[in-house]
Amino acid sequence: MTIYNFAAGPASLPPEILRQAQEELLDWRGTGLSVMEMPFTSAPFKQIMEEAVSSLRDLLNIPWNYHVLLMQGGAYGQFSIVPMNLLRGKKSADYLVSGHWSRRAADEAKKYCKTNIVAEAKANNLEALRDESSWKKNPDAAYFHLTTNETADGVQLQNLPDTGDVPIIADVTSDFLTAPLGVSKFGALYASAQKNVAPSGLTIVIIREDLLNGAMPITPTVFNYQRLAENTSKVNTLPTWSIYMAGLMFQWVMKEGGLSVMGERSQKKAEMLYSVIDEHDFYTCPVDQDFRSQTNTCFILPTKRLEKEFLTKAEEKGLVNLRGHGAIGGIRASLYNGVSLEAVETLADFMISFAKAKHKPKTSSKLEAAV
Ligand SMILES: *Cc1c(COP(=O)(O)O)cnc(C)c1O
Repeated sequence: MTIYNFAAGPASLPPEILRQAQEELLDWRGTGLSVMEMPFTSAPFKQIMEEAVSSLRDLLNIPWNYHVLLMQGGAYGQFSIVPMNLLRGKKSADYLVSGHWSRRAADEAKKYCKTNIVAEAKANNLEALRDESSWKKNPDAAYFHLTTNETADGVQLQNLPDTGDVPIIADVTSDFLTAPLGVSKFGALYASAQKNVAPSGLTIVIIREDLLNGAMPITPTVFNYQRLAENTSKVNTLPTWSIYMAGLMFQWVMKEGGLSVMGERSQKKAEMLYSVIDEHDFYTCPVDQDFRSQTNTCFILPTKRLEKEFLTKAEEKGLVNLRGHGAIGGIRASLYNGVSLEAVETLADFMISFAKAKHKPKTSSKLEAAV
């Protein structure tokens, strides 16, 4: 049976790159070494890393005045690393709270500065995100932090706010490389790898050069953006395997046609599921149309019992890891770049037949009883 994986992360990777990794596992390009065994300072690994970073620079068209940093600590680590590095002597930073992860980011930043919540989405109520003119922006903020896609809530921002001279710092973890992205609109952006890029362990940071030199003295050296930039990220041992896999993924995205092709596919996959949800009263997407995520489709069923049954029956059909985020509940299908169109079609078909089987209109069940 084919298994279709809709995990939120670590998540599905294209089979082509898994196969390539398998082929190269014991001997990378005739070195006689597995990538797992290479010193991070060795010549072959230097080549792997340079190829990965240069593919990423090509894919995103990263301007020359932006550095690519390869780090550990995950996106959650960045919730602290960002204020430690980017307050640059200022006392306050702006946070847009659009869901679970941006709320965590703001909570963590409170340890380092005053966090000004410019607007806050409430459960199933995104009104606050809509009217930018009502936001309480601080023109003196060190930066403006936002999360482009809320992985747990299935909420994706459609536009970036106008923040004037205040640099936008974005957690792009769960929609990174799923559509074109204008790097120059951001002061910095970061993504942990295990959603769209590679196995876990790697966090990618892309940062404008003029923001590099303001780290607080307490900043750990391994999390100091400037130290990383000066040393091509080689401050301590790198997550080498994840960087290698990221390189394969960047090449795969390029071969498939780049970010505009990824964007078209993401849209197509998401539309497939949202149209099933909208055409069946049985399913409800709690997210307003204009904020629906293209990478994490969240929905609920009429009862918790039906959700449990949905998950069990889906698993029997090879559709796995559809349980919603622990803090949110419901069902979530993550549709990252590694999830094929075929996987989403199979899920959509399953959703239609499950709804039909479980949601008999009252009249038809009476008819059946009469037969
Ligand atoms: C998964 C996720 C995180 C947490 O990532 P870790 O790598 O586990 O720290 C943070 N933000 C977003 C948007 C995420 O999707």
